[in-house]
Amino acid sequence: MASPAVLARSLVKDFGRVRAVDGLGFSVARGEIFALLGANGAGKTTTLRMLLSLVRPDSGTLELDLHGDGRPASPADVGYLPEERGLFREAPVGRTIAYFGVLRGLPRRRAEAEAAAWMARLGLEQRAHEKPDALSKGNQQKVQLAAALVHRPRLAVLDEPFSGLDPVNQELLLEILRELRDAGTTVLLSAHQMQLVERIADHLLIVESGREVLAGTLDEVRRAAGRGTRLRVRMRPPLPVEALTRLAGVEQVEAGEDGVADLLLGNGTELGPVLGEVARLGPVLAVHSEDAALHDIYLRAVSEARG
Ligand code: ATP
Repeated sequence: MASPAVLARSLVKDFGRVRAVDGLGFSVARGEIFALLGANGAGKTTTLRMLLSLVRPDSGTLELDLHGDGRPASPADVGYLPEERGLFREAPVGRTIAYFGVLRGLPRRRAEAEAAAWMARLGLEQRAHEKPDALSKGNQQKVQLAAALVHRPRLAVLDEPFSGLDPVNQELLLEILRELRDAGTTVLLSAHQMQLVERIADHLLIVESGREVLAGTLDEVRRAAGRGTRLRVRMRPPLPVEALTRLAGVEQVEAGEDGVADLLLGNGTELGPVLGEVARLGPVLAVHSEDAALHDIYLRAVSEARG
């Protein structure tokens, strides 16, 4: 089997008395999108910074094989979008992006051409001569993203890339992430936007207090969390909440207004029998079902991990 692009084993990092990362291990295949999820302070940034050798693990090992032949990674192989967005305040954004390309090994002309292409892709053509301070937060974020990707790295490490982006730009970023994956780039990102992550990530790792809580593909995570489907029913009020809670396969009932209830079903539970049982409890006016959202899985997993 091909070696992974990134292999982390038993990573531990303490800051004084705070254990930021507590025995994390994971592997990221070349050309996949791997998402690190977790609450504020869970250890995501520290983990990403260890990958980039910006923070040294106290113990554990990290191996990068970005070319697939064991060659060590060079700075030109890696692109990093840091959580704190520090751009040169005095330089126009076009020059700034090109400068990052030169720093990562591109010849100047090529860096300028790539910078122009990224600005066009991100809708920043008109901003090339402006200084970062003159841009909105979302546009600054896009400039920083371009600076991280301008040299077309093999590994893109993106710390909270969706933060500050409006819905249209979030969609644009999803598209760019898909393009990176199609081009064979390995992407490791951290995020809080579950509804976006579930649309893009090949593998997820949910961390809490520096430890793994759930890991795998979205389906694997759903299975491990025992969460299959969210079944929304609207019944003629009043809702028989107690009886719904007792139905086989129903793990949780969230009662809403006007006779609406969300039933969270265990993974693998068949809808038909549950619907039959619900109909026996009273008139069902509407039904809607969807796969359990990562958001629900995440909230439950993190709250269980906290005890
Ligand atoms: P967020 O979602 O808020 O960005 P995170 O998951 O990225 O959080 P980290 O930034 O990795 O979390 O922080 C993990 C823990 O380590 C926190 O308790 C944080 O206060 C601590 N920490 C991180 N960096 C340092 C540092 N340089 N010095 C001291 N403590 C630190």
